[in-house]
Amino acid sequence: MSRGAPTGRCQLCGSVGKLSFEHVPPESAFNNRPVFLGDIKKMLDAKTVLPLRGGKQCQRGSGAYTLCERCNNNTGGWYGSAYVEWAVQAAYNLSRASGARTIDATYSIYPSRVLKQVLCMFFSANSNGLGQFHDAAKAVVLDKYARGLPDGLGVLAFITRSWLLRQAGFTGQLDIRNGQGYYFSEVAHPPFGFVMTWNCPKPDERLTDIRYFSTFDYDHLVRLSLRLYVLEVNTWAPCDYRTLPEIEEDIRDGQGQRADLPGHD
Ligand SMILES: [Zn+2]
Repeated sequence: MSRGAPTGRCQLCGSVGKLSFEHVPPESAFNNRPVFLGDIKKMLDAKTVLPLRGGKQCQRGSGAYTLCERCNNNTGGWYGSAYVEWAVQAAYNLSRASGARTIDATYSIYPSRVLKQVLCMFFSANSNGLGQFHDAAKAVVLDKYARGLPDGLGVLAFITRSWLLRQAGFTGQLDIRNGQGYYFSEVAHPPFGFVMTWNCPKPDERLTDIRYFSTFDYDHLVRLSLRLYVLEVNTWAPCDYRTLPEIEEDIRDGQGQRADLPGHD
């Protein structure tokens, strides 16, 4: 850790002290080059969903000083390489499937480790914590052998080749057509995107449920068949997977600014 590391509260274990740089996703999962991180608050202030200037450049990849050194090292050692192995397989499949809307593939993975790495990414992406299920999710991440997830917590996945990175802390959204409320957080970085939901249905039917990964043992390496949708990330709005032609059509129809922009916590 560098001497200039900031101090603060670890977003995973809660201890206060020096923080270390947590790559989200792990550095070896195609996250070792400079990235441009958008700022969702600026997007909301400007009332546009299209990419804006004003994000921040991160020379070392996507991430931030969010975890203490101990949590960073433990979770990186326990879960990081399993996640990277899955990302490499997915990137390979994606490279052979140009234009496909879904990718059906069998992966050789440690589901439990992968899921816990995904949980870590949500801890890093949510500076205000994970709300009511924070402690239960934290216990699952800090004990590498723990199984299961808190009731009501959903973990969903998609595949993407879009290089607009999205990280959004938990936000509420109301579908004005049917009154259904949603509460979700999203982390998207190719080749994957993940959505965490709390006590609500999927915000998009194309998202694949991977919550059951938590039922596997830590050391359980399996061959697992999955269908993942290939979704595009073209705006800053979390869970907005419209393609560019769809966005252009909405703009022509006078709906370029989504009526259902998420509200702040
Ligand atoms: Zn910690």
